[in-house]
Amino acid sequence: MIVTIDGPAGSGKSTVAKILAERLDVRFLDTGAMYRAVALAILKAGIDESNSDQVAMHVRNLKIEFEGARLLLNGEDVTTAIRTPEVTAVSSIVASNPSVRARLVELQRQIGRQGSLVTEGRDQGTVVFPEAEHKFFVTANIDARAWRRQQELAAKGSNLPLNIVRDQLRQRDDRDETREHAPMKPAENAIIVDTSHLTIAQVVESMAKQVLAGPRTP
Ligand code: C5P
Repeated sequence: MIVTIDGPAGSGKSTVAKILAERLDVRFLDTGAMYRAVALAILKAGIDESNSDQVAMHVRNLKIEFEGARLLLNGEDVTTAIRTPEVTAVSSIVASNPSVRARLVELQRQIGRQGSLVTEGRDQGTVVFPEAEHKFFVTANIDARAWRRQQELAAKGSNLPLNIVRDQLRQRDDRDETREHAPMKPAENAIIVDTSHLTIAQVVESMAKQVLAGPRTP
């Protein structure tokens, strides 16, 4: 069984996807982490992230693998290193590169073939797993998302003003929604979940109920 959860940054989808996977006792896949790993590799190699040919060449030789909740890039644990603001910004630039997407989509499908999965990202229900049994698109208004992201950053010791956090989110949403390849959008048969006024527990509860009720007819 595949459950896809797509949506913008700060919507709460990662937290919800992780808890839902535990609740259903299936694996969890954070596809954003894979794009972040590519971004980190590009930064480390000193490649201009908007040079699509060089990025395409470089991504071919990257080894990206999960070891439980840890992410390895060419064997090195980059779980924490991929969460910096610099990597975040570059991730949505390399994510518009079709060669990067092709490589990561293939890896994600390989992981999907190994058994049941809750997978989260931007294109899981539309492109990577169009046949998924359950599809959700998790969203929230920009103020709620900016506030949550600011709290996350504050927990890591970074105190950015709310308006800056909001602008950065908007810029990333804009790139993710308007790119030519696999833009972020709900799959036609996705259930839209607006989390602006819901707690994580309420969102997980409602999703678990839908999944446990059995496959939906498209
Ligand atoms: O979800 P997260 O914020 O970690 O994703 C980082 C970036 O990776 C997103 O802004 C998006 O550009 C890209 N991404 C994507 N497709 C996915 C997951 C993430 O394009 N399935």
